[in-house]
Amino acid sequence: MAPADTGAPTLSVVIPVYNEEPGLQALFDRLYPALDALGLSYEVIFVDDGSRDRSAALLAEQYARRPRHTRVVILDGNFGQHRALLAGFSKARGERLVTLDADLQNPPEDIGLLMAAMDAGHDYVGSIRRLRQDVAWRRWASRAMNRLRERTSRIKMTDQGCMFRAYSRRIVDAINQCREMNTFLPALAYTFAINPTEVTVGHEERFAGESKYSLYSLVRLNFDLMTGFSVLPLQVFSMLGMAVALLSGALFVLLGARRLIIGPEEGGLFTLFALLFFLVGIALFGIGLLGEYIGRIYQEVRERPRYLIRAVLEELPPERPPRGGERAGSARGARAAAPLPAPVPAPPSPQALLPGLDPVDADPPR
Ligand code: UDP
Ligand code: MG
Repeated sequence: MAPADTGAPTLSVVIPVYNEEPGLQALFDRLYPALDALGLSYEVIFVDDGSRDRSAALLAEQYARRPRHTRVVILDGNFGQHRALLAGFSKARGERLVTLDADLQNPPEDIGLLMAAMDAGHDYVGSIRRLRQDVAWRRWASRAMNRLRERTSRIKMTDQGCMFRAYSRRIVDAINQCREMNTFLPALAYTFAINPTEVTVGHEERFAGESKYSLYSLVRLNFDLMTGFSVLPLQVFSMLGMAVALLSGALFVLLGARRLIIGPEEGGLFTLFALLFFLVGIALFGIGLLGEYIGRIYQEVRERPRYLIRAVLEELPPERPPRGGERAGSARGARAAAPLPAPVPAPPSPQALLPGLDPVDADPPR
């Protein structure tokens, strides 16, 4: 399937890595044999998302061991899982792309299941975690968010939290053309899918370390999903506003009529308070929701780069068609390339890179 003349592999596996030092070796030990067993040409692209432990150094060592099958993209700070994935997408050369977490929660042996679904003609293969091994509140919250998303967007995913998915080259190219800052990658990909499907995959407990998602970052991520793919929350508020205006108009008429017929009423003070608090609550939530959208609009208009690449370890120089590829035809295309800080070094040898790979000093401006 891979066009032989460019040497592009059939499969690119993109793995975001953030402080995964304790589990990386186990990942290498399982992932490469699983991929070798598939019997197709592949590359694994690790994206180091500004890890503060020795993850980047371990990745560089792995690159030195398997340079033909490994590429390492080292970001200049912690940009979050989805932007790290986007950085990996921009580098991937495979005809198909699979995303996988670094913590071995999804068994790499199941990549074959995703490939089989693609062989059957699907261009987007989602996954559903069999017997999900996460803490109860995570499972409960993600069920609730799944239901909310089903109702507010046209994106149909049974298990939105699972990043173990496969995408066709066409979808990867479409994603590479997107310029949004905050996104939820599986949902974005779904909007481009023609023939999506889902398969059930295994799920295990995190091999080592702990989840990189706090409650706060999960809430942020879900707001990205909601605001990124639906304006329904905003519309709910205009509907609610209209309903409240109509009802209070009716109340006003009623009270006016009562005053003329029976005389002014007394009491009912607390009912009034209750009503007021309720309405103030709705109004505040509505303003907050507006803020979520406006904040994102503000981030978009600043047009800052979504991620900065510090270094790329790879064997072949990335084949860049003259200013084409992912950015072809985009008026804003040059933006992502322009603000890179110091000149990005040509692929350095891991030895040269290793000593410099100590903790990243500063987070990027957000
Ligand atoms: N991750 C990342 N940047 C972050 C947070 C997470 O690249 O800021 C990576 C992490 O290393 C892992 C994947 O994203 O490979 C999923 O993270 P995690 O397993 O902590 O999430 P959970 O399974 O708890 O949803
Ligand atoms: Mg995990």
